[in-house]
Amino acid sequence: MTTLLMCELRDGVFHPAVPRVMTAANILGQDTHVLVAAEPSDPAVARLARLAGVTRVRCVSAAHYRDHGAENLAMLIAQMAVDYRHIVFPATPFGKALAPRLAAMLDVAPVSDVCEILGPDQFIRPMYAGDVLVTLRNRQPVCVMTVRPSAFKPAEALQAPAQIDEAPSGPDMGVSRLLARRLAVGGRPALSVARCVVAGGRGLGSKDNFERLIFPLADRLGAAIGATRAAVDAGFAPHDWQIGQTGQIVAPELYVAVGLSGAAQHLAGMRSAGLIVAIDRDVDAPIVKMADYSLVGDLNVLVPDLLAQLA
Ligand SMILES: Cc1cc2nc3c(=O)[nH]c(=O)nc-3n(C[C@H](O)[C@H](O)[C@H](O)COP(=O)(O)OP(=O)(O)OC[C@H]3O[C@@H](n4cnc5c(N)ncnc54)[C@H](O)[C@@H]3O)c2cc1C
Repeated sequence: MTTLLMCELRDGVFHPAVPRVMTAANILGQDTHVLVAAEPSDPAVARLARLAGVTRVRCVSAAHYRDHGAENLAMLIAQMAVDYRHIVFPATPFGKALAPRLAAMLDVAPVSDVCEILGPDQFIRPMYAGDVLVTLRNRQPVCVMTVRPSAFKPAEALQAPAQIDEAPSGPDMGVSRLLARRLAVGGRPALSVARCVVAGGRGLGSKDNFERLIFPLADRLGAAIGATRAAVDAGFAPHDWQIGQTGQIVAPELYVAVGLSGAAQHLAGMRSAGLIVAIDRDVDAPIVKMADYSLVGDLNVLVPDLLAQLA
């Protein structure tokens, strides 16, 4: 029995979720092959081959895989699926685009957002926006699953390099083409794997205030920045900063929530955080009730005070 893990690689760097999902794959207790759209000679492929537990790296270097389009990759993996018992994706936008397509092609139900692996066929995953954790047993011949990277520690790149080879290409489906990709620039850590997150909500009142208060606090703490859907909808922050049921899932050691109420759909994305600090004027807000520490009052006063204390 073998596991196939799909690696997200861009511009010569694999996504920080990959070593974490590799840890999950190791718990399945089988050989693990990693599939990557890259040349076998790519230095990132050599780094992948050293990750603990990887037994083989399979590269596809045909031009139609270069943009990581879900249609072509799903078809390729469907052709390879017969060799695998588990096909694992990170629960990132990349993995979430691939897993359901592949599952439909293989006529199986995908198992999404796995946050604990109890055995090769038994998993824990959240339901109802994280209010319920369900334990399920997979009885399908192949298990197509997405794994929450934040629930697993990264595998280390310590072992002697695993075998690297070129996998046979699949067809170019020709149904989509990447026109442009703009990388969000910034020196802050990636939200999905950050150890500290500062998140802002509608209570900040404006984009200017969001930037005036949240940016320096995040910089002072070395944190990634998150936002609620209300803050994103109001244009305070870009969509890729949204945390929650329809945004990113985070599990940092420290989560600082500023001017956000803690709606169930937001909590779904951050309830696994270690220490939660809420800054809000409403003592009855759900986030204040669930926080380990709360600063209750006007955020326009409290955040500058906190920044002064942290200076
Ligand atoms: C299907 C669906 C999916 C959704 N997915 C998501 C999701 O992924 N992520 C998400 O976040 N939401 C999501 N939502 C929206 C969610 O239900 C809430 O509407 C949203 O999270 C509220 O955002 P907020 O906490 O910023 O705003 P509010 O609930 O309006 O809270 C603002 C907070 O700011 C405080 N405040 C205001 N002014 C000040 C001040 N001067 N000083 C201190 N505190 C102040 C208030 O006391 C309040 O607690 C979803 C909703 C639906 C229906």
